[in-house]
Amino acid sequence: MITAEDVYLDGRWVRPDDAEWTDLEDPAREEVFARVALAGPATMDAAVTAARRAFDDGAWTSLTHAERLSYLKAMAQFLTENAATYGDLVVQEVGLPVGLSVGGVASVAYHVAYWEQAYEGYPWAEERVGVSGVHTRITREPIGVVAGIVPWNAPVSLSASKIVPALLAGCTMVLKPSPLNALSLRCFADAAEHAGLPRGVLNVVPAGIAASDALVRHPGVDKVAFTGSDHTGKIIAGAAAETLKRVTLELGGKSAGIVLADAPLDRLVETVPPGFTLNNGEACAAMTLMLVPRDRQEEIVAAVADAVGKLVVGDPRDPGTDIGPLAFRAHYTRVQKILETAQAGGARVVAGGGRPDGLDRGFYLAPTIVCDVEPDAEIAQQEIFAPVLTVLPYDSVDDAVRIANGTAYGLSGAVFGADDAEVAAVAGRIRAGSVHLNNALTVDIGVPFGGFKASGYGREFGPEGMNAYVEQKATFLDGQPFGS
Ligand code: NAD
Repeated sequence: MITAEDVYLDGRWVRPDDAEWTDLEDPAREEVFARVALAGPATMDAAVTAARRAFDDGAWTSLTHAERLSYLKAMAQFLTENAATYGDLVVQEVGLPVGLSVGGVASVAYHVAYWEQAYEGYPWAEERVGVSGVHTRITREPIGVVAGIVPWNAPVSLSASKIVPALLAGCTMVLKPSPLNALSLRCFADAAEHAGLPRGVLNVVPAGIAASDALVRHPGVDKVAFTGSDHTGKIIAGAAAETLKRVTLELGGKSAGIVLADAPLDRLVETVPPGFTLNNGEACAAMTLMLVPRDRQEEIVAAVADAVGKLVVGDPRDPGTDIGPLAFRAHYTRVQKILETAQAGGARVVAGGGRPDGLDRGFYLAPTIVCDVEPDAEIAQQEIFAPVLTVLPYDSVDDAVRIANGTAYGLSGAVFGADDAEVAAVAGRIRAGSVHLNNALTVDIGVPFGGFKASGYGREFGPEGMNAYVEQKATFLDGQPFGS
C-alpha cells in the first residue's frame, strides 16, 4: 500500500494541514493500492501565493526564453529516464495500457523538443508602423500565474501541453491534477526538483472540488488552462468570470465520421477501430459516431465489428493489450447504465456491450458497437468516454452533415470516401476544431488542437498553443499627442 501525504509547493514537499484523504483503486484488479492526501483550500492558497511570488519577483520572467528552455530540457530528460516508473503508476491509477502510459511520460520530451525548434520563430516581439506613421513595438508577455487543471485520461501528456508553453513564456503555474493521478503527476514535481527549477515556478497540488474551486476563484491567478468535461468547464468559466481571468477550455466531444457512399471498406476497417478505442476509448477526440449510407450499413458494421473483435482487451500491464479497463468504478457503472438505457430504447448491440469473456475482475468493457438508435438518443448525443461506437444511417450527404453537426460538441470529425475532392468538400462543412480525411483520428503537437461549440475555446499545440499564455502589449515608441 502506497501512502502519499504531501503536495509540492514553493519548491518543497508540504503535508497539508487541511488534507482530505482519498483511496486509489486499481481498475484492473479492483484493489485499493494507495492512500493520498489532497490539498484543502488553505494549502491551495499557499500554492498560489508561491506561484504569485515567483512571478512577481521577476527572477523567472527576466530569464531569456533559452534559459527557461534549458530548465524544461532538464525536466524532460529526467522524465524520459524515469518514464517506466511514472508510467507504471498511470497504469495502476487509471488502467491505461502500459505502452501509452510510459509513452505519455516520454512525450514531455516531444513538447520540449517542439518548442526548442519553434521558439525563435514565435513573434515574442515585433516592430510595426501604425496607420498614423507611429512606430510601435508589439510584445507578447507572460500572462502571469496559471492554474493548470487537468483530467485523468492522459494525465502526463495533457499536463505537458500546458506546463511547457506556460513556463517557456515566463508564466508560473499551479498544476492541479485529478485526485486519481495524485501519485503519477508527482513526476513533474520530481522533475522540477531535479532540474533546480526556482521555488514556486511550478507547484503540483492535487485537490478535490472545494480547493479546485478556490484555485479558480483565487485573485492571485491570472489564467485558468482547463482540460476536462464540458460540465466542469461551464462551472470554471462562470467562476473565473468573477475576476475576469483569462480561460482556455479543452472539453469533451462526440466526434462523427461521415462514410460516403464510395468509401473503401478496407480503410474503415483499418482506421475506425483504433479511432474509437484508443486510450481505452477515454479520448476526447475519439470518433464515437459513424454515419453510414443506409444501404451500406450492414456491410460496414459487419466488417468493422469483425476488426474490433480482434482487439485485445485485458491487463493494461501486458504490452500486448490494446484496451485496458475503464478508469474507475463510478465511470464503469455510468457507462453500463448508458448502454442499458440504449438497449431498453431498442438499440441493437452488434459488438461487445459488456464484460469480455474470461475477465471476471476489473472494470472491463468489450469494445462496443451500437446500431438502431435515433440521432437525438443519449448514446448518439452524449460523450460516453468509453470504447463505444454509435452507428447512424443517413439518406443524403446533407442529412449526414446535419447529424454530424447536430451534437453540442465540435472537437473532431472525419470523412471517408474515394473521391478526394468530395471528401474535402464534405470535411469543409463539419463544424469541429479538427477534421480528418480518410482517417479517424490524428494529433500532432505542431498543429492547433481545440474545439468549436461545447468542446471549448482556445487552442493547444503549435504556436497557437503559446497564444494562450501571453498578453499582447503595444509600446508606442514615438507619435504625436492625441488629437493634435
Ligand atoms: P472533469 O471535468 O470531471 O475533471 C477535470 C479536472 O477538473 C479534474 O482535475 C477535476 O478534479 C477538476 N475539477 C472538477 N470540478 C472542478 C471545479 N468545480 N473547479 C475546478 N476544477 C474542478 O473531467 P474528467 O472526468 O477528469 O476528464 C474527462 C473529460 O475531459 C472528458 O469530458 C474529456 O473529453 C475531457 N478531455 C478533453 C480533452 C481536450 O483536449 N479537449 C482532453 C482530454 C480530456
